Amino acid sequence: MTSQEINLHEQLKKYFGFSQFKGLQEEVIKSIVNDHNTFVVMPTGGGKSLCYQLPALIKEGTAIVVSPLIALMKNQVDAIRGISSENGIAHVLNSSLNKTEVKQVKEDITNGVTKLLYVAPESLTKEENVEFLRSVKISFLAIDEAHCISEWGHDFRPEYRNLRTIVKRIGDDIPIIGLTATATPKVQEDILKNLGITDARTFKASFNRPNLYYEIRPKTKNVDADIIRFIKQNQGKTGIIYCLSRKRVEELAQTLQVNGISAVPYHAGLDAKTRSRHQDMFLMEDVDVVVATIAFGMGIDKPDVRFVIHHDIPKSIESYYQETGRAGRDGGEGHCLAFYSYKDIEKLEKFMSGKPVAEQEIGHALLQEVVAFAETSVSRRKFILHYFGEEFDEKTGEGADMDDNVRNPKKKHEAKDELEL
Ligand code: ADP
Ligand code: MG
Repeated sequence: MTSQEINLHEQLKKYFGFSQFKGLQEEVIKSIVNDHNTFVVMPTGGGKSLCYQLPALIKEGTAIVVSPLIALMKNQVDAIRGISSENGIAHVLNSSLNKTEVKQVKEDITNGVTKLLYVAPESLTKEENVEFLRSVKISFLAIDEAHCISEWGHDFRPEYRNLRTIVKRIGDDIPIIGLTATATPKVQEDILKNLGITDARTFKASFNRPNLYYEIRPKTKNVDADIIRFIKQNQGKTGIIYCLSRKRVEELAQTLQVNGISAVPYHAGLDAKTRSRHQDMFLMEDVDVVVATIAFGMGIDKPDVRFVIHHDIPKSIESYYQETGRAGRDGGEGHCLAFYSYKDIEKLEKFMSGKPVAEQEIGHALLQEVVAFAETSVSRRKFILHYFGEEFDEKTGEGADMDDNVRNPKKKHEAKDELEL
């Protein structure tokens, strides 16, 4: 079956209720439906899931979807089950299933009921699963969050590096689809090289977020007061403040509360119940601000986050982009304010000193880019997009005037002086 023979719009409407494809979705879907190895680079929220879900529903056989987080897999399976009367249409195969459940999953796959099978990479390495999957019809393998393959990505997972070998064992000619929101050329090369795909059709969406305003301010000992002032000037708006350490998260959340700002802390040191309560409070707008470590945000889809503040500068441009990207999802205002001091860079360097040398070198290189970004006097948007391998015209590009350097140009030496406060 080729994409010419199926009306993709009709299928889109039927399964997902949408009347239009978003961005490059249609091209990507055609590529997958036609059995090409396909590589998709789209920002978070770009609609990557649908790129493999729709072909999976259309094609004969079961699509295997590798995804790093059990919670994300569960959400997706529930969503897919919601569009069908057939519960077995999507399954998760992981270590939490008991024998009866595993039997049911395998039965549904064998009977051709299951169109999407979500697996964690470690489940895929299990011999009995490989044996089973060899014996059934697999439509393609989709690797979501494919940057987990690369050490240059922000979320490297060693198990991801064996995927190629396993896929080969399951079937030699299974098309492979890689999807990621990591736009750096380095990570992309790494992914394709590791997967051993030389013929992938690559689809890359623009990473420009024209509605986000980027601002970097020097970080002084008055940073908390600066943050409080900013929030008070933006009364009634919701935002996220990122700090590096749990301790700082707790302290800053308290400082804000004392100053009459409704804020809650969020970090991995809180128990699961408190975490999910604080997350819900933020989503339901019972509080304006969540002060968090990077543990907060994966899979958070609140469209009207109006500001993201970095109390501490992140460890890579990639992280900065991901975290600021949680602002203005609805296309409305999104103010991204980061506080920068070279001392924080030194601190980050120190954190890495116990790690293996290769990791330190990568970490150092990533940090140098952050320094260059924070200290630059040119368009920040141009800098970010260049980092992601994208051209941006700082005069005519969309959102060109949406950063501090463009609005208030400084001479280079002035910018430097200011940062040495
Ligand atoms: P990503 O994985 O790229 O971050 P998701 O797959 O989670 O993005 O999709 C983000 C949001 O976009 C979801 O809420 C999804 O329902 C929505 N979406 C995807 N495709 C379409 C479309 N064609 N029309 C409207 N909404 C869409
Ligand atoms: Mg996704």
